[in-house]
Amino acid sequence: MKNYLTVIGSGLAGSEAAWQAAERGVKVVLYEMRPVQPTQVHKTDQCAELVCSNSLGGNQAHSAPFLLKEELRRLNSLVIASADEHAVPAGSALAVDRDLFSSTITKRLSTHPNITFKREEVTEIPDEGPVILATGPLTSKNLSESISRLIGQNYLYFYDALSPIIDAQSIDYDKAFFASRYDKGDADYLNCPLNKEEYTALVRELCLAKKVPLQSFEKPIYFEGCMPVEELALRGEKTLAFGPMKPVGLPCPKTGKVFHAVVQLRHENKEGTAFNIVGFQTKLTYPEQKRVFRMIPGLENAEFFRLGAIHRNTFINAPTLLTSQLELKSNPGIYFAGQIIGVEGYVESTAMGALAGISAVKRLCGESYSPPPLDTALGSLINYVAGGRIGGAYQPMNINYGLFPASSMKTRNKQLRNEQIMQKALLSMDQWMSAHFSQ
Ligand SMILES: Cc1cc2nc3c(=O)[nH]c(=O)nc-3n(C[C@H](O)[C@H](O)[C@H](O)COP(=O)(O)OP(=O)(O)OC[C@H]3O[C@@H](n4cnc5c(N)ncnc54)[C@H](O)[C@@H]3O)c2cc1C
Repeated sequence: MKNYLTVIGSGLAGSEAAWQAAERGVKVVLYEMRPVQPTQVHKTDQCAELVCSNSLGGNQAHSAPFLLKEELRRLNSLVIASADEHAVPAGSALAVDRDLFSSTITKRLSTHPNITFKREEVTEIPDEGPVILATGPLTSKNLSESISRLIGQNYLYFYDALSPIIDAQSIDYDKAFFASRYDKGDADYLNCPLNKEEYTALVRELCLAKKVPLQSFEKPIYFEGCMPVEELALRGEKTLAFGPMKPVGLPCPKTGKVFHAVVQLRHENKEGTAFNIVGFQTKLTYPEQKRVFRMIPGLENAEFFRLGAIHRNTFINAPTLLTSQLELKSNPGIYFAGQIIGVEGYVESTAMGALAGISAVKRLCGESYSPPPLDTALGSLINYVAGGRIGGAYQPMNINYGLFPASSMKTRNKQLRNEQIMQKALLSMDQWMSAHFSQ
């Protein structure tokens, strides 16, 4: 094992990982391939370039995105400090002047006495650790192949197909009922039945609703298993009723009558506080998703923890491959961080960079390390990525309160519930920090 840390990629995650390690006295070699080797979307050679929106997400007190940022502030995050320094007015979001934001991060990293910055593409995973791979959704082809050889090609994915996730407390259980198709196994699915009129109206609105245009490099990603729900609706009135909304084997529990169609919801977590809509991956715009999916009986007042999406990505099957230290189970000393481990968004990627950096430092210093507790935003995200999962394929996730333990959610009053979760999280975060960084 080397006595310095290699970080590959100076995006949001890699920049934060390098910073956390360097600030804790560890020597870091940071590789960035831009501008020598560009990506399809980055436009500059700056660290932590924001490739699309200049918003780092919600900053509303007591929201989950705010809590994640607040925990990162406590860790002295370079990315969040730079965002705070270069914030621009954006209502309840933390938006930044993207050029000042990235140039500040680039300057702080490239002038840091513990960081050596190398502008070159890494084509192979280095033999000797510790190394953090933080090369993001647009990891170069050569390195993707090297990762694929190491972990096995079945564990590397190239697109997201995200269905919306709903707060269990916002579902109308007078309409939705638990049952499994043909009564096979446990009654694990929550079923929202539709009559003919409701189904026809839903299909019509799916066809008419506004969609997010595909980026040019995203075009070939669809295949039958991840077809957007609105594309299926466009194929013909009956397609959904014979596909993800088929009603067979799910009769009405009271009358035994067969419904015209059924939307199925699957548990998103062990606690049953969140459900995803099965087969409803979508390219509809966010406001249109809320409007159209609230037409489903039982979901009229649905609150969404996460909305659906489909886009080009590169990510690994982290729950199978990584420990909660973000290290490969099969190859200790090789860490992954950022969007490549299946988190979505600038701040989530930063968060995983921070934890991978700290985790690698602890290993280099021979000190014990465990990730932040489950009732923090950082801990709940790590738990999604590398904790035990139930059911369904692994798909990328952003921070939301559906990831927190059920015990954090005693009251039905959303505002009060979020305040309680946040207070508890920040207390836990402080305790975790004093246990890990006492000297
Ligand atoms: C088109 C598009 C639009 C997006 N829009 C948004 C948005 O609006 N909001 C949002 O929150 N998220 C958005 N995302 C997701 C966004 O990419 C991530 O949130 C975030 O940038 C991920 O951070 P990261 O550090 O994991 O990866 P990145 O920020 O992409 O950083 C990875 C870095 O690794 C470098 N690299 C890659 N391969 C190599 C190699 N072999 N050797 C050396 N360096 C390498 C890259 O050049 C890059 O600098 C978008 C993604 C895409 C693709």
